[in-house]
Amino acid sequence: MKIGIYGGTFDPIHRGHLTAAKAVRDALGLNKLLLVVDSIPPHKELPADSAGNEDRLAMTELATAELGKWAEVSDIELRRQGKSYTSDTLRQLKAMYPDDELWLIVGSDMFLSFHTWHEPEVIASLAGIAAVSRLEENEDDAFAAQKKYLEAAYGAHIVTVQNPNVIEVSSTEVREALSRGEGRAYLSDAVYGYIARKHLYGTHAELKHLTVDELRPIAMSFLKPKRMPHVLGTEQEAIRLARQYGADVTKAQIAALLHDCTKKLNRDEQLALCAHYGIVPDPLERQTLKLLHAKTGAAVARDLFGVDDDIYNAIYWHTTGKADMTVLEKVIYMADYVEPNRVFDGVDDLRDAVHTDLDMGLLMGLQDSIEEMTERGNPVHYRTVEAKEYLENREDA
Ligand code: ATP
Repeated sequence: MKIGIYGGTFDPIHRGHLTAAKAVRDALGLNKLLLVVDSIPPHKELPADSAGNEDRLAMTELATAELGKWAEVSDIELRRQGKSYTSDTLRQLKAMYPDDELWLIVGSDMFLSFHTWHEPEVIASLAGIAAVSRLEENEDDAFAAQKKYLEAAYGAHIVTVQNPNVIEVSSTEVREALSRGEGRAYLSDAVYGYIARKHLYGTHAELKHLTVDELRPIAMSFLKPKRMPHVLGTEQEAIRLARQYGADVTKAQIAALLHDCTKKLNRDEQLALCAHYGIVPDPLERQTLKLLHAKTGAAVARDLFGVDDDIYNAIYWHTTGKADMTVLEKVIYMADYVEPNRVFDGVDDLRDAVHTDLDMGLLMGLQDSIEEMTERGNPVHYRTVEAKEYLENREDA
């Protein structure tokens, strides 16, 4: 397996980094990419407006949404104490991947100063060097001279890569642009959303008065990359159902975008949020993450984004349902269930049902999930049973 190792301060990670990684993947046929977030770079001290380790790590994780599954984030340098040298990182990675081919990815500035790094000969013995240009102007001569020198001096194995989609920008420039209220185009959506939500780099988004378009990247920033298509799909389905059944489309979009905003949190984090917001989970909810996230998600949506009661309730009930739901609550429950990325036996029948009649679809959805949980031996929340019985009794009436 060919593994690309791309180290950086990533303060923040920008589209220049992402296009460079893709160019190296295409040129070398990389199977895997490790984005290694630097702790204390030997070459530079972190500027005063820098984001902390946790934020840089979180942003880099979010950026992998634009690269796909071959890209992973590594925190090995952050976990190491003291100065972070690439030679130490490569020693560690070689021990973790002894049978694989390691390729260190470096941009022009790093490549041209490679001989000044700590233990360049060790680096050259452990990994190939993929040098990718970060300027639009032709760097061929400088690259060729450096390649020749490093090959002779350290026996380095070097490949130089032209990036057809090069973006001439640095993190420093991105930070400066952000502080002026610009720079979004240099960032992947979720990274931009994270920066806006955390008010990093001098940004000051007013989170309580966001349009849906402003909220969308921020909503993405709460999610694991693999969940982003689901939430965007839920928004699309929610628009469709809201239009069809006369719910407020904007509210449906906001509820859909935020419905899973605490989904990635673990049980301790969920319970801490419950304590913070005065939510008292019942015994079943205490042990079932899937049930907790609906309640904590609703609380976060109200606290951070000032959503109204309609949206709050749509998020709150999106997992269990309840008797006598509002149209908006039904729309979100069902949009989550049948959004276009969902693939399970019977999903098309469920889609047909909900597109024919909202209550018919909802009843079918409730029955299916009760059946599925019973088959798996999982307890069913009493609210779900009540929701089903409420509809059955009404249909009988
Ligand atoms: P700063 O402005 O803080 O110096 P930077 O944009 O150079 O930041 P780093 O995180 O220090 O970002 O860079 C990590 C790696 O990415 C380095 O190898 C660097 O050469 C490379 N790199 C940075 N920007 C680009 C770009 N626009 N195109 C290609 N490579 C880049």
